[in-house]
Amino acid sequence: MELEADHRSKNLPWWTWLLPILLFQAGTQVSLYFQYAQGVADLYFPTAISIILVNWWGFWRVVPAIYLNATLSTGLWGIENPMLWPLYAVPETILTILSWLLFSRLMKGKYWLPNVTSLIQFTFFGVLVPILVEIGLLEFLLIGFNEHRTDQALDFYIRNFLGEFTSCFGLVLPVLYFGSPALHQKSLLFRSSERVSLSPTEVKSRRDWIELALVYALLLVLNYFVPFLRFWFIYGFFSLYIAIRFGFGATTVTNYFIFCITYFIPELIQRAEHISRIQQQDVTNILLGTLLLYVFAAFTGRVISDLKITEATLQFKNKELQQTNRELDRFVYSASHDLSAPLKSVRGLINISRYDPNAVNLYLEKMEISITKLEEFINEILDYARNKRMDVDLEAVRLKDLCQEVINNLKFMEGYPLVTIRIQVDPEVRVISDRMRLKMVVSNIISNAVKFQRKQVAAEIEIRCRQEMSNTIIEIQDNGIGMKPETQAKIFDMFYRGTDAEKGSGLGLYIAREVVEKLRGSITVKSELGEGSQFTIRLPQ
Ligand code: ADP
Repeated sequence: MELEADHRSKNLPWWTWLLPILLFQAGTQVSLYFQYAQGVADLYFPTAISIILVNWWGFWRVVPAIYLNATLSTGLWGIENPMLWPLYAVPETILTILSWLLFSRLMKGKYWLPNVTSLIQFTFFGVLVPILVEIGLLEFLLIGFNEHRTDQALDFYIRNFLGEFTSCFGLVLPVLYFGSPALHQKSLLFRSSERVSLSPTEVKSRRDWIELALVYALLLVLNYFVPFLRFWFIYGFFSLYIAIRFGFGATTVTNYFIFCITYFIPELIQRAEHISRIQQQDVTNILLGTLLLYVFAAFTGRVISDLKITEATLQFKNKELQQTNRELDRFVYSASHDLSAPLKSVRGLINISRYDPNAVNLYLEKMEISITKLEEFINEILDYARNKRMDVDLEAVRLKDLCQEVINNLKFMEGYPLVTIRIQVDPEVRVISDRMRLKMVVSNIISNAVKFQRKQVAAEIEIRCRQEMSNTIIEIQDNGIGMKPETQAKIFDMFYRGTDAEKGSGLGLYIAREVVEKLRGSITVKSELGEGSQFTIRLPQ
């Protein structure tokens, strides 16, 4: 069922069906140079390639291709009876399926390996377990059909395991780590909805690049004088150094580089001429050294990278916290002032009315104004608290209806009868967003446009909405008093008021920005003093 859905739901280009089989065949051809007995090789690349591709392009593009390649290539490995080829192709197909099933499906593994947990899951479920099963099955077949002797089975098993693990782990890590985000950008991944990202790069400055190049040059020189077979731990120090200095990404590449210069390239060239530099019994030692070096350095690098990411996140959060603290201080100070001013005014009015009972009605009217101001201010604080505390409640919101509702609620506002409001919004335009929050923002901007109208001209407000890529854009334009550039820069600050000519707390636009940010959008202003202003709200779909 799930396989079916996978198969149909993605739009990858046609060549993603063809490329796997070509890559598997190329991998087979290279691996053939590393064959050391009937049906077995020191390095085997098709399985490594299949682990990469099954994570990128899913089950159907990769599993049939590896089976087909393995079936057609079994003859090249010295198994002459064609009837047995489909059988010998089973183990590596099972490896691919197991890796996909355990890591990708069961663990929901993050194959771009963004943290130590995904690296551990990948090592065990994506590589180790599938390989152990695969070579067990292969050895079983080879013994069953008298290609290998039973007393050699353990030797073959260990050597096969080391070779396969080395080629799978070594090749796969850097390709998945660097390749996945690159393919994601080009929409060439099967599970395209996931957010695939690289850790913030650890090699940053020019000095870092020079240092890295120097280490690589040193490794090349070292390779000339110090044989890997006996002194692999010296290479290990280099790898650990890179892990500690630069983290995971650089380490995976360094490991691969060491493997290529010390073993893979020289051996490939020699074996192409049917000779080997290395004694057969030493191969196991080389592979064991490579494996230890790979695993230790890769895990050290991953842990170091995770630490750096955690540190950076902590620093960021700390800055955010300091900012919030500062805002809170200012809030308490300004709010207590704004709350006490109307109260003082009411108390004053009560006192005066005691001495002037004839004018009580006039004083009551003034008190009402003060109390309304207080009420408005408290409502704004409540809006702020609601936005902070409540979860975003998404629904399909028809923007035209929403604007109409907001305008109806503003009907009794001072100055409203003098304004002509035009809603240029297609009734069908909808946005998936939080209705209550959206109303808060639109209401605030329109009420400002009503409040800050120019007396000399007929006041006009125009509301427009449009869809742009994956954003919905709401524009609210007025021909009011407008603002100087210095004012525009500050209007979204807490308690900022650009003018004393009109009533207000200076909280409205601050809250509007907070709300829009909570909706993962943005709010901007363009304004000309004496001409008018335009507010633009950009919301993600
Ligand atoms: P308040 O309206 O309570 O003063 P706001 O945060 O809503 O607070 O607005 C901050 C300031 O931005 C206002 O004091 C005003 O100077 C300026 N402003 C906002 N909207 C407009 C507008 N449409 N035209 C001119 N100035 C505006």
